[in-house]
Amino acid sequence: MRNMVIIGSGPAGLTAAVYAARANLQPLLIEGKEPGGQLTLTTLVENYPGFGEGIMGPQLMEEMRKQALRFGTEIVTSYVYAVKLKEYPFRVYFADQEVTTKTVVISTGSSAKLIGIESELQLMGHGVSTCATCDGFFYRGREIAVVGGGDSAMEEATFLTKFATTVFVIHRRDVLRASKIMQDRAFSNPKIQFIWDTVVDHVVGTKETGVTGLKLKKVKTLEASDLKVDGLFVAIGHNPNTDIFKGQIDLDSHGYIKTQPDSTRTNIPGVFACGDVQDPVFRQAVTAAGTGCMAAIEAERWLEH
Ligand code: NAP
Repeated sequence: MRNMVIIGSGPAGLTAAVYAARANLQPLLIEGKEPGGQLTLTTLVENYPGFGEGIMGPQLMEEMRKQALRFGTEIVTSYVYAVKLKEYPFRVYFADQEVTTKTVVISTGSSAKLIGIESELQLMGHGVSTCATCDGFFYRGREIAVVGGGDSAMEEATFLTKFATTVFVIHRRDVLRASKIMQDRAFSNPKIQFIWDTVVDHVVGTKETGVTGLKLKKVKTLEASDLKVDGLFVAIGHNPNTDIFKGQIDLDSHGYIKTQPDSTRTNIPGVFACGDVQDPVFRQAVTAAGTGCMAAIEAERWLEH
């Protein structure tokens, strides 16, 4: 019987592990399909406190992993394919194992939706980004493109005009999905230009040069064109990684785990959720780490009771 099983190894899960291990709970952490989470897809992270010169995303996650191991976290490189949260003790299934546990910390994160072209993946972190807050700063005085027509795309495009000279919003239809207020804000921003009925066919560039342009295609006429930009932000939504919890725990209408105000408690006593899997708003490494800390402390107190 485990005291705590942590599912997921991004900043939330690893911070929960550091706190739980230091509280002598000997947590078991199961890394998941993308060990280290979304930060392993980025290059330089400049907004995580404590690194004056910035730190590479994968290196930051490696340091967090080391820190969790140092205090006695057991880390398993596997992924959880099923859980039973409706019975106690809880049950967690991975590889050929079934583990029983007194508490579960869910930190499975969310995954940015991608357009689905090969060059997008190849240049991820080298000019292609899914996070304007994280990477906008690198595009001071540059021209960039944002893909998407929802609130996320409008928010990111508007934010990016603080840095870029021009932001092209590329949308596959000729009407936006975004709310009226976000649309109005984007339409009235002189730095934002819309490219309608268009999809990105190919991202031009190499890891050395970064993104140098896009090959675009009109959806209706299939007409091809080139657009010179220095970066591409994909803002077509996120999917919280909650498939294995569906039907067992309260989720909101977008699939994010519902937590109680100012807490990581879910509707199931003994199950806590932290990081992006319960946060569609901030989605930052530092906020994920903060809620990971909260989850470990709340779980420890819950166990004491
Ligand atoms: P969303 O509302 O689902 O919008 C996704 C957009 O991306 C849509 O315009 C969609 O096009 C486009 N898209 C999807 N797949 C695509 C693909 N493969 N290629 C090209 N384009 C693609 O997602 P979201 O903008 O992330 O918003 C999610 C939720 O969070 C919404 O409820 C939103 O209101 C909320 N949110 C609110 C705020 C805010 O209020 N500050 C900020 C961000 C998000 P189509 O329109 O053609 O489907």
